[in-house]
Amino acid sequence: MSATNHPDLSFHQGVNQMAEKAMGILGLDSGVAEAVKGCNSVLQVRFPVKIRGKVEVFTGWRAVHSTHRLPAKGGIRFAPYADQDEVEALASLMTYKCALVNVPFGGSKGALLIDPKEYDRDELEKITRRFSLELIRKGFLSPATNVPAPDLGTGQREMAWIMDTYKHLHPDDINYLACVTGKPVHQGGLPGRTEATGRGVQYAIREFFSYKDDVKKTGLKGGLSGKRIIIQGFGNVGYHAARFLSEEDGAKIVGIIKSDSYLFNENGLPVEAVHQYACENKTLKGFPDAVYSEDCVAALEMECDILIPAALENQIHVHNADKIKARLVVEAANGPVTFDADEILNKRGITILPDIYVNSGGVTVSYFEWIRNISHIRFGRMQRRQDELRNHQSSLLLEEMTGMAIPEKYKKKLLRGADEIDIVRSGLEYTMSDTYKQLRTTLLENDEIDDLRTAAFVIAIEKIARSYLDVGVY
Ligand code: NAD
Repeated sequence: MSATNHPDLSFHQGVNQMAEKAMGILGLDSGVAEAVKGCNSVLQVRFPVKIRGKVEVFTGWRAVHSTHRLPAKGGIRFAPYADQDEVEALASLMTYKCALVNVPFGGSKGALLIDPKEYDRDELEKITRRFSLELIRKGFLSPATNVPAPDLGTGQREMAWIMDTYKHLHPDDINYLACVTGKPVHQGGLPGRTEATGRGVQYAIREFFSYKDDVKKTGLKGGLSGKRIIIQGFGNVGYHAARFLSEEDGAKIVGIIKSDSYLFNENGLPVEAVHQYACENKTLKGFPDAVYSEDCVAALEMECDILIPAALENQIHVHNADKIKARLVVEAANGPVTFDADEILNKRGITILPDIYVNSGGVTVSYFEWIRNISHIRFGRMQRRQDELRNHQSSLLLEEMTGMAIPEKYKKKLLRGADEIDIVRSGLEYTMSDTYKQLRTTLLENDEIDDLRTAAFVIAIEKIARSYLDVGVY
């Protein structure tokens, strides 16, 4: 089965077209352009695992798009429709994403052709460990060279198995924890990593709404509160983004689309209750006070202000781009809008916040986790007491100078040093905010750039090309 229902171009060709557009604007030398675009190396593995008394052979890939910075970084997905083209496309998006948000990693991606729903926990552990072994032995997984993370169909649990497999193969590697990110917190993971991509989506949309001129161009009015959002995909990224946007920003999640059905309620769906219901019942059917339908194709075309595709690539294509009603499309998934559909949406004046920006929260916090793992110390451990003492002295000074006591409720907040999660969130928020500023400045200052995606690729490719040229090619 292919994830591409209406392939205008292959996913990989589509990503390359987007990159080429930016390369043309930058006037990049054709040789350098080829060097930047192409995948460095791709590993395909086939390995047998005994499942329920029978030998099953699994196929997996790990593509390294670029090593201009090391390690190369990117998720591993478990999906029944993975292929090499998809993995290469996703690896290249990782290179551009890291460069855009100043995360000093190359781009990589991995996939295992499997339907995880067909296997129980023990079987998945056996398969994941065997896949990890292949990647480690063939030089495609280590803290210094290639560091996976969760993606579609994988999460903390799989990352812990990968880390443990690496640790047993390399007992002398003091940095073994850094061989993978997105681990459980008690296995070297970082608080805030699980929800980081969804949190980043929230910060990206908030940042966009903080610029009135940008919002005005879409035809939308006012702030984020009350905006009607449809979200496609209700996994790690989709669920967290929907939750934060509704609970903290007052947005209305009017539609939630899963792979086989969707729920719709014009007045907004209670995200947490839908999540609980879906986990308990394994279906959305029967959820009260909402329209239920299995016509997922039409769901993307329903009335809303903001559409957030957070599932798969190639979901908005030449056959449905004309019917999208949203004025703002926020690409939480990788590659949800094809190259041709992108042009159609742009012509229709629909603003797209591009994937390499919107979902970069995952790799940004993965970067923090990797740093924490190789530095072997929790963020804030050395400074916290010092910060609290300084805050205490400042508050005393303030009270002395004004002759007034600071109210207790403010004093508590003022005196408290930052927890690790505060530091992680602040680093993520700063990254999302600063990157959006760069995106809109690049768009506004360059007549040849018409949209935020092209701006994102121009910023990223300029940095990558510079790094190739600085060190020379040999
Ligand atoms: P996930 O496996 O946790 O969830 C995927 C969700 O998509 C599930 O709810 C599934 O039911 C739904 N889905 C699958 N096919 C669908 C279809 N055809 N229509 C509607 N829904 C469908 O995966 P995730 O980690 O949330 O990843 C989602 C997307 O975000 C992917 O494109 C992934 O590459 C990207 N992404 C993830 C991360 C991360 O940190 N997990 C980081 C960056 C980008």
